[in-house]
Amino acid sequence: MTKRKSRLIYGPILSRRLGRSLGIDVISNPSSRKNCNFDCIYCQLGSVPNKIQSVEDVIGCVSSPEIVEGIKHYHRNIEDIDYITFSGTCEPTLNPELGEMIDGIRQISSVPICVITNSSLTGRDDVRHSLAKADLVVATLVSGYDKTFENINRPASGIRLDDIIEGLASLSHMGTCRLSIEVMFVDSDKFGYNTSDSEISRLADILEYINPDEVEVLTITRPPAESSLKAVDEIRLKEIASYFDSRLGRKKVRLVLRGIRKGRSTIKHENIEEEVYDLILRRPCATEQVIASLGLNMETLIPVLENMEYEGKIESVREGKTWYYRVL
Ligand code: SF4
Repeated sequence: MTKRKSRLIYGPILSRRLGRSLGIDVISNPSSRKNCNFDCIYCQLGSVPNKIQSVEDVIGCVSSPEIVEGIKHYHRNIEDIDYITFSGTCEPTLNPELGEMIDGIRQISSVPICVITNSSLTGRDDVRHSLAKADLVVATLVSGYDKTFENINRPASGIRLDDIIEGLASLSHMGTCRLSIEVMFVDSDKFGYNTSDSEISRLADILEYINPDEVEVLTITRPPAESSLKAVDEIRLKEIASYFDSRLGRKKVRLVLRGIRKGRSTIKHENIEEEVYDLILRRPCATEQVIASLGLNMETLIPVLENMEYEGKIESVREGKTWYYRVL
């Protein structure tokens, strides 16, 4: 199969946190399935042999005018978008034009802007100033201990947890964007886990210090990069959320459990197969999630999925009780 260039703007994706969210990828490098300076054991994009070591190493940074033009085009086709979200197959802060892109989108759209980041570069002033332009920043933090952080996020060399914590605290202190810290809990005999009492207590100390607007407690739901990884059971997740409640305040903590968000997008379709591929490329999806995100019906979608599977573009893989489609 020849790999085709995916579009930079994709979706909308229907998510519990962001509602209907139009996604933006700011690195376009068809030779790599993800462009990130982490290689998280839970990554839904799979593992890659080479992670990006520094901003200077990035291949395929998209320019701000390209993104703004893309958003202009999509705005004509989509109604009722809740967020425009920088995410996709890359770490958005690796593109130095992120701040310009946010400024450019603001000129043509009043839809709130979200950046989903792995937090790796929040220690840099320029990156924090770009992030501060968004309405919402969703930032990852899995542990307050260096060893656990390295085992789970597998960062490029030179990325230090202390810098991340200080960067997130500074971003929170700036107060221009809403800051949500996403804490992904995992369990693995091979890679360890971040759910012990000492991990939770240390995380609570650090979250108190960062003082974000919101903390999300969640575990894996989609097929992870490392197949030995297990989701944390609901009982333990509830205990963790309840402990964070007691330390951070009930209104700040949100427990995210498995489940598919109800709802449906309204979109004028141009090429259904491309739209489905672009969605699954960024996030493995169950059939119901594709239907809800792209506003399709089962009769239209099933032949498209079957054809893509037959042509070797996608595969179906099981996680828990759900079958997901992901790009090959
Ligand atoms: S989960 Fe996000 S931060 Fe981690 S490797 Fe995948 S894309 Fe990068």
